Amino acid sequence: MSELEITVLPALSDNYFYLLKDTATGTTAVVDPPVVDDVLEQLGADGKLDLIIATHHHGDHTAGIEALKAKTGARVIGPAAEADKIPAIDEQLAEGDSVSVGEATARVFETPGHTAGHMSLYFEDSKALFCADTLFALGCGRLFEGTPAQMWDSLSKFSDLPDDTRVYCGHEYTLSNAQFAVTVDPENEELEQRLAQIEELRANDQPTIPSTLGEERRTNPFLRAADPAIRAHLGMESASDAEVFGEIRHRKDNA
Ligand SMILES: [Zn+2]
Repeated sequence: MSELEITVLPALSDNYFYLLKDTATGTTAVVDPPVVDDVLEQLGADGKLDLIIATHHHGDHTAGIEALKAKTGARVIGPAAEADKIPAIDEQLAEGDSVSVGEATARVFETPGHTAGHMSLYFEDSKALFCADTLFALGCGRLFEGTPAQMWDSLSKFSDLPDDTRVYCGHEYTLSNAQFAVTVDPENEELEQRLAQIEELRANDQPTIPSTLGEERRTNPFLRAADPAIRAHLGMESASDAEVFGEIRHRKDNA
């Protein structure tokens, strides 16, 4: 049992990346670094970085990898399904594999949809999910390389994780996601309250990350395709969950 110290780091216009430290061993990892200097600064005097984790190949999550590896000697790990697009990758991961950051261990989920080989990591002891551009606070990633059915299947892989799992996603898109969410789930009071909280956080330039999986289950329409009120609102009472999800994604793309 080992709990990670997790630092949320903003980068570029709206990206988040994460520094993980296993306090028991001092092992450090970075998830999806788009930049270099901010990481080196966070590492402090000894500059020790053991692991660089890539969730998917997009440049706004991978641009810092090569230089960070060169400066620190960290090992680069990422999804086997897009290993040819991840810079300087040393180790390839697939569904069910595990990743160790010192004594903290994560389970690998293949979560295709946003990209064809996107992966997510779940650290059970820390109850922390790193899902990058698969699941956002109140949203989900755009389907650049996958189908709605594939993304629905990917999101469904998180359904066994506990409600108090913290969700560390790849972007600060929460306010626009919330403004869209109320259009498909207009009678959801908790969502209404969450929108107000998010407006206040963003007005003060505060991050909305991490949320919890429980909050997402209750308020994120992309996890709520089975919800009767949403289905009724969309006139899709007899459609499959994946079809309802696909309609919500389609509406968001055109919002
Ligand atoms: Zn992406």
